[in-house]
Amino acid sequence: MNFSYSEKVQALQEKLSAFMEEHVYPNEKRYEQQLNEQKNRWSDVPEIVEQLKQKAKDEGLWNLFLPDSELGAGLTNLEYAPLCELMGKSLIGPEVFNCNAPDTGNMEVLVRYGTEQHKEEWLKPLLNGDIRSCFSMTEPDVASADATNVQASIVRDGDEYVINGRKWWSSGAGDPRCEIAIVMGKTNPDAPKHEQQSMILVPLKTPGVTIERMLPVFGFDHAPHGHAEITFDNVRVPASNILLGEGKGFAIAQGRLGPGRIHHCMRLIGAAERALEELCKRVQNRVAFGKPLASQGVIQEWIADSRIEIEQARLLTLKAAYMMDTVGNKVAKKEIAMIKVVAPNMALRVIDRAIQAFGAAGVSNDVPLAAQWANARTLRIADGPDEVHRAQIAKLELREYSQK
Ligand SMILES: Cc1cc2nc3c(=O)[nH]c(=O)nc-3n(C[C@H](O)[C@H](O)[C@H](O)COP(=O)(O)OP(=O)(O)OC[C@H]3O[C@@H](n4cnc5c(N)ncnc54)[C@H](O)[C@@H]3O)c2cc1C
Repeated sequence: MNFSYSEKVQALQEKLSAFMEEHVYPNEKRYEQQLNEQKNRWSDVPEIVEQLKQKAKDEGLWNLFLPDSELGAGLTNLEYAPLCELMGKSLIGPEVFNCNAPDTGNMEVLVRYGTEQHKEEWLKPLLNGDIRSCFSMTEPDVASADATNVQASIVRDGDEYVINGRKWWSSGAGDPRCEIAIVMGKTNPDAPKHEQQSMILVPLKTPGVTIERMLPVFGFDHAPHGHAEITFDNVRVPASNILLGEGKGFAIAQGRLGPGRIHHCMRLIGAAERALEELCKRVQNRVAFGKPLASQGVIQEWIADSRIEIEQARLLTLKAAYMMDTVGNKVAKKEIAMIKVVAPNMALRVIDRAIQAFGAAGVSNDVPLAAQWANARTLRIADGPDEVHRAQIAKLELREYSQK
């Protein structure tokens, strides 16, 4: 394994880092301010984000996540890792480069499984950053960590499918630009367990689709994207909106979640790096009991532990990315599961130390730490809770012994 970055990646890293310094960090506060000046926080999109998107596009820092070289940057997972990490240093970063969840996962699904018509209608405007999308799998009424529990029904009726169900935590659905949902439901509850589910494209404007409410995360609304509870009441879409065919939903979900999970981990490493940077800057200048906080042994220990843990998580992320590139997502599933447990827990520890070092300011919105902590905490649950990944790792580990 060679984790040194190629010249191409180093050049992109430099360019992206400069863009973050010059355009993204200085505009984080303006983003919030513009959001608060709107009619309400969900009515529009802060104009700064569209301006930054155009700048990023002009500089070629666009769709870097997509391995397909005709549609995206053509980077491998290993090449994308350090770039995604940089974007993750700011919560507004990923969108600026059109590399935000859940659009990236949805675009990958459309690239891999969409028909020419799906691509023309939905993939093109998503790649262009003109519209946004959401992914509706989780339901309030069933334990959705187990995707086979999903209850929403997708029933064929002539040339159409009829969808009924209630979803929640559909991230991005509050965004006024969000036009399309990928909905997972059951087409055949009597089929074998992993062939009951299908995925279907549902334009959010279709009659019967209702956004019931937006769910906050520890009080952060994440407007204008947010996380929606949505009901689907006799929603009719053309039969051609089904992805890959009936019964393929579970397989698509597995394929979608691999890259999605590792991207979250890459961004979390960026979030932890930013927290450590903020911590180090703060403790040099803050004087308590006659000396800078940086001279306290306990704070030096926090800094050292944070650096050690970030490096460990980064190396495991790079190993998982390398394996995805070389042996495929399926064989790399143990590494993907491991890093999905390691990265959020590492980020939470590092961000928490930075919050502590900042004192009361750390829990305010004056610094990005509280928001980053809240985001990292959700990732111990979203895209598979820690316990489910640990169960998977243990199963794969034990399998080696039962075969001997
Ligand atoms: C901020 C945020 C954004 C999200 N975005 C999306 C989205 O865009 N689209 C979408 O469809 N969903 C989304 N989700 C939902 C997320 O994927 C689910 O919450 C997750 O899969 C867990 O499902 P659940 O909430 O139903 O928990 P449950 O399935 O009820 O599980 C609850 C808890 O039980 C424990 N548990 C479960 N299984 C096991 C096991 N095998 N062994 C031991 N313990 C276990 C775990 O501790 C788990 O946290 C999002 C969630 C959050 C918080």
